[in-house]
Amino acid sequence: MAHALADGRRTVLVVDRQTPVHGSTLASTSMLQHELDVPLSHLTKMVGPDHASRAWLRSARAVDRLVEIVQDLRINCGLTRKKTLFLAGDEYGARALKVEAAARQSIGLKADFLTGRDLRDEYGIDRTGAIASDVSASANPAQMAAGLLRASQRNGVEIVAETQISDVLSSGKDVVLSTSSGDLIAAEYAVFCTGYEFVEAVARKSHSIVSTWAIASKPGIPIPAWVKDHLVWEGSDPYLYLRCTQDGRLIVGGEDERDPEAYRSTGKLERKAKIIAEKVSDLLDVKIGRPDYAWAAPFGVTPTGLPMIGEVPGLPQVFVVMGFGGNGITYSQIAAEIVSNAINGHADSDADLYDLKPVRKNGL
Ligand SMILES: Cc1cc2nc3c(=O)[nH]c(=O)nc-3n(C[C@H](O)[C@H](O)[C@H](O)COP(=O)(O)OP(=O)(O)OC[C@H]3O[C@@H](n4cnc5c(N)ncnc54)[C@H](O)[C@@H]3O)c2cc1C
Repeated sequence: MAHALADGRRTVLVVDRQTPVHGSTLASTSMLQHELDVPLSHLTKMVGPDHASRAWLRSARAVDRLVEIVQDLRINCGLTRKKTLFLAGDEYGARALKVEAAARQSIGLKADFLTGRDLRDEYGIDRTGAIASDVSASANPAQMAAGLLRASQRNGVEIVAETQISDVLSSGKDVVLSTSSGDLIAAEYAVFCTGYEFVEAVARKSHSIVSTWAIASKPGIPIPAWVKDHLVWEGSDPYLYLRCTQDGRLIVGGEDERDPEAYRSTGKLERKAKIIAEKVSDLLDVKIGRPDYAWAAPFGVTPTGLPMIGEVPGLPQVFVVMGFGGNGITYSQIAAEIVSNAINGHADSDADLYDLKPVRKNGL
């Protein structure tokens, strides 16, 4: 939240009810993708060509910008530029991917359609087709988040841990936040970046929480050389996605379920980890062995795959950033740009893409 000083500068406070850098940041498989969860051709049918193309282009710019910021700040987080391979699956077959590649090319995004034969020859993968593209990256999410927080601290941002915000009121002049220990914080602006927890004032029935699973193999396992500089995902439901770390671990996720509580089951964690390991072994034709780590987490999604970013209707100077789906890191960059533009009175021509609609008038 931001508080104005007499000389016009602002102090910024980051408040978290836990120690920052935990939860979904640690669970994240951290593929920094410009590709949204909903393909451009499909999103166009949902929200129209103008909206859909702007959302895809903004996402590509956000990945480039995030890479630039991390490099400028020299954050040591294994940041690596990657290509992406989007494989045909049971939801998007080769024909749909051909249409998708053409749609992306038509708005200026580089996307090459690969036939089943190309895929076999270049990657040794047995699928009916794929889209190869660039503009992606990967990084260690905890090191990246910690590095960004440290850089903010050097610029005067104060971090307050273990403080829960329990309510918010906005007078139109000031924002007042109450903490669960009974303290009040007065601010000029408040921005709720609550991850997958939807702020009730703007939650909608169409938003849902799903459960997801992921594994990390042992380091240095024998995998095809091309995997090191690619992110891979597939047009299936449930889908599989993977990347490789700098020390040669395969990080693989997927097997999503539309049950917000399923991630809590230890039995499911064991079963899902086994399925994911088998699927990736089949796909890459390698034995990945027993994973070193397996984990599960909840995941917030919206029907269009686009997040909600903006000022809460009925709560002036209070912003929310939520509904990230699988692209939370890319969307965090977009949210940082849109919210800071709004606070600083600058127009952002894409702000309408992520608009909020009111449900309640005041309070959390
Ligand atoms: C398994 C998994 C894999 C993922 N893979 C990818 C990926 O490959 N690429 C990608 O881009 N994204 C991915 N994501 C998503 C991405 O990691 C998240 O969107 C991102 O970490 C969210 O960051 P955040 O800071 O917005 O939210 P969070 O990290 O969830 O942080 C929100 C914080 O708000 C705090 N909080 C909430 N309510 C309050 C309150 N009332 N008072 C005080 N504090 C509060 C919480 O304690 C929490 O620390 C993945 C997520 C999961 C779970």
